[in-house]
Amino acid sequence: MIGPTHRLWATIATIAALHAQRAFTIPPTLEVSMVLPIATIIGGAVLGGLPDLDLKLGIPHRTITHAIWWPLLIWFFLPAPVGPALGFALLTHPLLDCLAGRVQIFWPLPWWVGMQLVKTGGATETMFNIGLGVWVVWNVFK
Ligand SMILES: [Zn+2]
Repeated sequence: MIGPTHRLWATIATIAALHAQRAFTIPPTLEVSMVLPIATIIGGAVLGGLPDLDLKLGIPHRTITHAIWWPLLIWFFLPAPVGPALGFALLTHPLLDCLAGRVQIFWPLPWWVGMQLVKTGGATETMFNIGLGVWVVWNVFK
């Protein structure tokens, strides 16, 4: 999957996780109630693209940076609602990559998980993203 796809799905995952935790309605004041979710959404979008830094750093692709341990650490060690939202956002990256090839998701264990259902940057990926967009718009406005 390409960077924009990862950031799109991570952003939607962050919003969904915040919504599930009722993070948009917890604090009593407008300033507090919107600052935390918006900062978390931006953080989720950034985190969603982060694992592919392995390409720039010369680390073998889809190994340590795509391990499931990072999202789980964030999910369980950062306080709610931020931790679960960011953990879920980061988790979308290796899971999406599993649809476009194989990922060493349990790094350092030598198991590669996934299958080539979607060609990275191809028409299927675009349709995948359009489908997500339609689904989100449908659920927001129904
Ligand atoms: Zn990746």
